[in-house]
Amino acid sequence: MTAPSSRPRSRSAALLIAGALLACVGSAAWAVVSEAERHPLEAEALAEPEQVLAKLPPLIADAESRGAKRELALLELARANACRVVANWDCQRDAGRAAQMAADESGEPFLAIRALIAESRGLMAKQQYSPGGQLLAEAERRLRRTPSPALMADVQLGYSSMSNSLGRHELARTYADRGLSALGDVSEPLVRARLLRNRGRAEARLGRIDEARESLRLAISVAAAIKDPKLSAELDLELARIARDQGDVATQRASAERVLALADQFGHAQLRALGSEVLGQIARDQQDLAGAEAAFQTATEQFRQAGLDAEERRVLRELIRVKLTRQPNRGDLGPQTQRLLELDEVVDSRDRALIGEDVDARLRYAEQEFELQRLAKETELAGEREKALAASNRLRLMLIGAVVAGLCVIGGFLYQQRRANTRLSRAYERAQQSEAALAASQQRLRAITDNIPAIVSHVDRNERYTFSNAYMHRLFGTNESNIVGRSVREMRGEAVYATLAPNIHRALAGETVNFEGQAMLAGRAFHYQTSYIPEHDANGEVCGFFALTFDITRLKLAEAQLEREARFDPLTGVANRRHFEERLALAIARGRHQPVALAVLYLDIDFLKPINDRYGHAAGDLVIRSFAERVVGCVRDADLVARIGGDEFVVLSEHVDAEEANEAAEHTARAVIALMSEPVMFGEIALRSGVSIGIAVTQSVQQADTLIAEADRALYAAKAAGRNTWRRADAH
Ligand code: GH3
Ligand code: MG
Repeated sequence: MTAPSSRPRSRSAALLIAGALLACVGSAAWAVVSEAERHPLEAEALAEPEQVLAKLPPLIADAESRGAKRELALLELARANACRVVANWDCQRDAGRAAQMAADESGEPFLAIRALIAESRGLMAKQQYSPGGQLLAEAERRLRRTPSPALMADVQLGYSSMSNSLGRHELARTYADRGLSALGDVSEPLVRARLLRNRGRAEARLGRIDEARESLRLAISVAAAIKDPKLSAELDLELARIARDQGDVATQRASAERVLALADQFGHAQLRALGSEVLGQIARDQQDLAGAEAAFQTATEQFRQAGLDAEERRVLRELIRVKLTRQPNRGDLGPQTQRLLELDEVVDSRDRALIGEDVDARLRYAEQEFELQRLAKETELAGEREKALAASNRLRLMLIGAVVAGLCVIGGFLYQQRRANTRLSRAYERAQQSEAALAASQQRLRAITDNIPAIVSHVDRNERYTFSNAYMHRLFGTNESNIVGRSVREMRGEAVYATLAPNIHRALAGETVNFEGQAMLAGRAFHYQTSYIPEHDANGEVCGFFALTFDITRLKLAEAQLEREARFDPLTGVANRRHFEERLALAIARGRHQPVALAVLYLDIDFLKPINDRYGHAAGDLVIRSFAERVVGCVRDADLVARIGGDEFVVLSEHVDAEEANEAAEHTARAVIALMSEPVMFGEIALRSGVSIGIAVTQSVQQADTLIAEADRALYAAKAAGRNTWRRADAH
């Protein structure tokens, strides 16, 4: 391994040592993060970097030809790691950049961040702090999007190392603390150990010795667990430096011996040189000049072996000084003095160059520090912008959400309103249709009911009219407004209501009622036939009734006419034979229950036929009618006069006993005969006739035919006696 050719010169040897180790091995942890997968060669590179660098090119070419970007990124990261181990910073920078491109193309954010850190470390090792810092800032920016505590700690470690290299110890300590804080509890011992190392180193530079010692002890304990000899050695040397400042020989020695043990373990010339240098310093401080000479001798040889000219020159000076102290006139110093001169020439010429570079570097640093601050500010601003953007986006999303929700609500409301309106308008249309239909129906009903020759009305539970038709209005000589709302009792009067009430109550009890009646309306007898039809509501309760009343007066009159025609003689108006026979049968039936005496007078007009023959049939009719009138005038109201043949009549009378019956019958017979002595005037013609009468009286129940037959025989006897007289049948 060779030392880096361009490294800032430090003001102290220890810092040079630390810086050298930092450059050589200090960044071993850069890429050690847990978030991304590692190629096996990356780990192998820690131990066998040269072999790994030999293996990688064909693998990288193969991955490139296959377009396997992710694999390419992993291989380039392995290459960057190997380059770092061999301190080839250009190689590390280029590999880091190639890894980043491949990682970005394969969409691997953690690999890309690791690549940025690797490239940054390459640049910083070459003192190109500004681009290195920019890459770290970019890594930090990306980490805000895809957080990783380990990688964030690694970035802070980068900032811390950069500050340390530039002598900005306070800043170095701050970054180290930030890294440790970012790491939190994440187990990343390499990063943690290096952060603690940086912090301890910075604290030591700042004179905070106790804190520095504590930080370094912590770093050593963490590093011990991961068996990283270079890191452990570096830490021990730092601890030894502090111990020397404090006059703590024991710690110095213990540290030096641990470094030498590690050097032996790994055959590492630089470590052996450094350990020996520390032992030499201890020996010299303790006036053990022989020991110091031996130790410095070893250190000089080992630095020479490692090709570390500046370090060799530093120790060689110490060696010569010790030798001269021990033996001022020594003659064996020639080769070493010669070597010192050579080294002076080499190192001075390089230092001159380095001084120039250093001045440039510091000038750059002055700019870069400003640049870094600007970058930090920008990063912060970018973060703020991102936060603000995120907040703005959130707000916008919320607003959009609210607007969308609002629109949805309004839309829903409008939709519902439209539906409701549609429903309402349909309902309205239906209602209108229903109303129209109802109106039409009512109109039809009205037209029908108004033209029905009957009273149609509706009466509610309270017996008040709710409907009436035109017929009713005509009949009652009023209009609907005078009927609807009034009670039946009011309308029809107490007397009629009394006859209607039972039927009304039956109808309101749910019974269909039919009845007939007679009333005087507008001065004439009004016969009616009424039906009460109960009306039920939705609950099945009777809420009123319809009343249909038909005028049956003419029917009744016709019936009466028929009745009359069926029972009375049309010529004389007295009962006909049928009527007489019914009355006789009734009387006989009554006689079976109570004592009664019946008298039958059988009457036959005398000499009617000659009147007909001489004056015409009308004259004969007149005689017959006059005869009937005279007979009716001779009997009691309760007696029945009936025409039972052409000029034959009967009188049926009921009496309490036969004697009274006989007396009454004879009285009637005499009276009729007397009346018939008067002529019937047919115009100017006096028609004269007479009457023959047969009387039959019975007190016991008998057959009608027998009684009539007896009366007929008595009549025959009267005719035979010369007419215009009466005869009585034998008493029974
Ligand atoms: P008598 O004295 O024996 O009773 O003889 P009469 O002429 O009355 O005749 P009779 O009783 O034997 O017969 C009845 C007659 O009465 C026969 C008929 O010419 C006449 N007659 C019967 N019915 C009617 C009628 O409705 N109108 C008229 N004008 N004459 C009738
Ligand atoms: Mg006669």
